[in-house]
This record gives sequence, C-alpha cells and structure tokens, in this order.
Amino acid sequence: MLTRREMLRGTVATASVAAAITAEGEAEAREAKPMPDEALGLLFDGTLCIGCRACISACKDVNKMPADRTELEAGNYWEAPLDISGKTLNVIKCYREGSGLHKDEVKDGYAFTKVSCMHCVDPSCVSACPVSAMTKDLVNGIVHYSVEACIGCRYCVEACPFGVPRFTYDTPFPKISKCQLCQQRYADGKYAACAEVCPTGATLFGKTRDLKQEVARRKALKPGEKTVYPRGKIGGTDEYIGISKRYVDHVYGEKEIGGTQVLHLSGVPFDLLNKPPLPDISPARTSETLQHMVYRGLVAPFVFLGGLVALAYRSMRKPEAKPTDKPGDDKGGAP
Ligand code: SF4
Ligand code: SF4
Ligand code: SF4
Repeated sequence: MLTRREMLRGTVATASVAAAITAEGEAEAREAKPMPDEALGLLFDGTLCIGCRACISACKDVNKMPADRTELEAGNYWEAPLDISGKTLNVIKCYREGSGLHKDEVKDGYAFTKVSCMHCVDPSCVSACPVSAMTKDLVNGIVHYSVEACIGCRYCVEACPFGVPRFTYDTPFPKISKCQLCQQRYADGKYAACAEVCPTGATLFGKTRDLKQEVARRKALKPGEKTVYPRGKIGGTDEYIGISKRYVDHVYGEKEIGGTQVLHLSGVPFDLLNKPPLPDISPARTSETLQHMVYRGLVAPFVFLGGLVALAYRSMRKPEAKPTDKPGDDKGGAP
C-alpha cells in the first residue's frame, strides 16, 4: 500500500521533473535566421522610378500571366491593375497629394512604390505551410512555391505580413500566385525581368549584400548630384545617369520582420506608400517559439501524471517472494 510519505515524496519528485521541462522550454526562444551569403534580391529606388510600368508588362510576359481586368477608379486612371493578384505578380503604385506636381515630395507631390514578394529572410509563409509547398532556397534564399505539394489551405496567404500570396479562386485548379524572382530564367543566364527592362535602374537585381552596398553609396550622395546608377543587374555593364535625390532615413526591408532580400528606398515616408510599419522580429520566429513552449508545456503534465501512475502501480503490485516461502505454495517461491 502507498503510504502518505511515499505519495508526497513521489509527487514532489515528478513535479520537479515536470517543472524543469517547462522551464527549459520557456528558456528556448527560436534563433533568428541569418540571410544566406549568396542571397539574391531586388533594390527598388522610388526616386529613380518614372512610372512607365514596363516592369509590370515584362513580369506578365515572362511568367505567362494573362491580362487583369481592372475597374478604373474615378481620378485614378493610371493604376491598372490596382494590386497584385493571381494574374499579376508585380505592380507599381502611386502616392499623390494636393496638386501632385512634385516628384518625391509629400506636399503637392507624388511618388512610386513597387509591390511584389519581399523574399523574407525568415518567411512567415514558409513557417505556416503545413506541407512544405513554400520553401526557402538555402543558397540564394528565394522563396519558392510548389504547386504539386500545395493542398490549397491558404495558410501562407494569412501568414504573410506583406499580403503577397494570392489564391487563384477563379481558376478550375486554384493555386498560390507570387513572385519567385524569375528563377526559371537563371539557367539561360537571364535574371529578374522587371529589373532587366527598367530603363532607369529603379528596379535593380543582384545579390542582396551588393544591393546593400549600393544603398549605402546612394544614401551618402549629396542630393542634386549627377550620378551614374547601375541598370538591370548590379555588376552588369548597363548604366543610367540621373540626379540623386534626398531619401527618407529608412531602408524598407533592411530590418522589417528579420530582414528581407528585397530592399526599398524612397523620398517619402513608407507609411504613405502603404508599406506597413513592422517589428524587427519575424512572426515565424515568434510563433515557432510559442509552439515549442506549448508543446513543452504539454509534456510537463504528462510527466507528472505518469509519475503518479507509476507510484500507484508500485503500491498495488504483489509482494516479492521471501526466501522462507515453501516450494510449491502459491506465493511464487523458487522450485
Ligand atoms: S520599369 Fe522601372 S521606371 Fe518603369 S515603372 Fe517599373 S520600376 Fe518604374
Ligand atoms: S513577402 Fe510574404 S510571400 Fe514573400 S517570402 Fe515574405 S512571407 Fe513569404
Ligand atoms: S522578379 Fe520576376 S516574377 Fe518577380 S516581380 Fe520581377 S519580373 Fe515579376
């Protein structure tokens, strides 16, 4: 029979083990993911963009995407399509205020921004996908979508802080649609089509570490200076000569949700461009840390319960046979 002392001792022991497991779980926050050394990305410099939208057409062309039907908004006949969708992976949006006459000015000004996948360093879409249909390339960091693996749950749509993945509801076999940095073109020595056609180098393709150096160079320029900008891809031979502008002191994508491989420069604050302020820590990291804690937390009660069951079982077992027991009696002694 289990005595009260044994019961108490067992309870304390199992509770200690359970508490230790829980404490260990709380201490283990998931590490931040580093940017791959060879990460590829884009730099969009809104001060260089002239709003020609060649990048939208080129993106549709190389990705074989159909035309998007857009209801034109009164007073906004320029923006069509209005947003990315199952048929459009890249759009240029325009900020306007007052007379809208002055480029990259807040008051009475206008400015352009690009909307497409940011290729996050720690992508929420990858973390949320239950079947690994969204994956991040370990070498170039491109966030890739596999239509074969996708089960259509749309968790990635809900998880993306930039609202990028779109589900093609209006097709017989719906799938997720998002920019994959034109990776299908690399084997032929080509690169992102939106960057290749951009006449001013406003959209520039390259390794993210090189793009960051270009960002630092541009930020150090004196506004109004005549400047040579790389055009197409960084390290290529094409150039564009322009006049440097004043930038807001923020590189969008440098820190947002743990960093992204696509970076944005602008002459007007990013909140005016519908680029949301986001924390530095990725939602993927936060949710995975919480998950680990919950699972660890669930282990503790099971360990506690298991300990109590073991104690109870031990108390109910038959007593061990004693050496004085006679052979052949029913108490389990040696023959
Ligand atoms: S092609 Fe270049 S300049 Fe033209 S809209 Fe696109 S980013 Fe702007
Ligand atoms: S922007 Fe959205 S879809 Fe693109 S990698 Fe980040 S989480 Fe995924
Ligand atoms: S990288 Fe390719 S898929 Fe992505 S926005 Fe540019 S053209 Fe479109």
